[in-house]
Amino acid sequence: MTQRVWNFSAGPGALPLPVLEEAQRDLVCLPGVGASVLEISHRSKHFDAIIQEAEANLRQLLNIPDDYHVLFLQGGASLQFAMVPMNLLGDGSADYIITGSWGQKAFQEAQLVGKARVVWNGKAENFVRTPRPDEYQIDPNARYVHFTSNETIQGVEFASEPYAGEVPLVCDMSSDFLARPIDVRKYGLIYAGAQKNAGPAGVTIVIVRNDLVQRAPTHLPVMLNYRTHAENRSLYNTPPVFAIYIVMLVTRWLLHAVGGLAQMERINREKARLLYEVIDQSDGFYRGHAHPEHRSIMNITWRLPTEELERQFLQEAQAHGLHELKGHRSVGGCRASLYNGMPIEGVQALCAFMRAFMQRHA
Ligand SMILES: *Cc1c(COP(=O)(O)O)cnc(C)c1O
Repeated sequence: MTQRVWNFSAGPGALPLPVLEEAQRDLVCLPGVGASVLEISHRSKHFDAIIQEAEANLRQLLNIPDDYHVLFLQGGASLQFAMVPMNLLGDGSADYIITGSWGQKAFQEAQLVGKARVVWNGKAENFVRTPRPDEYQIDPNARYVHFTSNETIQGVEFASEPYAGEVPLVCDMSSDFLARPIDVRKYGLIYAGAQKNAGPAGVTIVIVRNDLVQRAPTHLPVMLNYRTHAENRSLYNTPPVFAIYIVMLVTRWLLHAVGGLAQMERINREKARLLYEVIDQSDGFYRGHAHPEHRSIMNITWRLPTEELERQFLQEAQAHGLHELKGHRSVGGCRASLYNGMPIEGVQALCAFMRAFMQRHA
């Protein structure tokens, strides 16, 4: 197969085609450098320009205040499940709001490190929504409140930040990072594995307020301490240079081709609206997993009347060039991930296929 398909993969997910084309064109010889980005020192002035532009683009896109660090780390969001409590917990306790599988994992990891408490858990309802502020109680002495802005597996997304009082908010934003504008001031720490919306696998972006960085205990291994990476501008050791290069291209694309995050959100909302409209107008043939007010604009999850029809749906979709629509095994059914890199034409093709499939089988 040499032709690109519509790729609805949940992660690593679709990247903007112009970014892939530019990376391909410049892979062997980065203009002005005479070597590949894969071959130059991370301490060279050429790589310095790349990591500095990646950070500057993120600062501009998200309007990140000066007292926040932007870090490029390794180990995925999964390492942040441990690094967050290692750096921020001390002898205190943290509160976790759990709205899906990733929040559950983050909580379990925190428990290995120190004291953590679940203040709300959507598991009994099968993770179909986020909580109302009156459904949970934050400990005012908690070191932080952790939540997952978008649960990638269930397709449940917070419409806005959960209430946390004066306690710093820590957010796993892996699957909706850069999908919409956010007010960074509302957060103490944000982390996101790049491979959903911001770049390739291999780099994790951490945005953290300076006073929280300073909380890190001195006994931590150097690589697990946020202070190490903040003080060395993510160049303490060799960073994932290629992944950072692609993040630079993706953020440049967001700024200059898309026109910023407000515009990206408008496009993402339109893509999600088109797909939810097919689900909602299907008379129950397609059944959305999440409650409508808590639905994700990134990961759309739904079931069909029978598992047999679901298998047939996935098979025929694939034959129509619509790939990676199988839901996570814990939810079943189907999932379409509509990350920034998925053009609206891909969503329109999926919607047309879904309408036709329903006509044949309803
Ligand atoms: C994919 C994902 C993770 C896991 O990321 P890794 O980079 O594989 O560790 C964690 N949280 C969320 C919300 C995700 O979507």
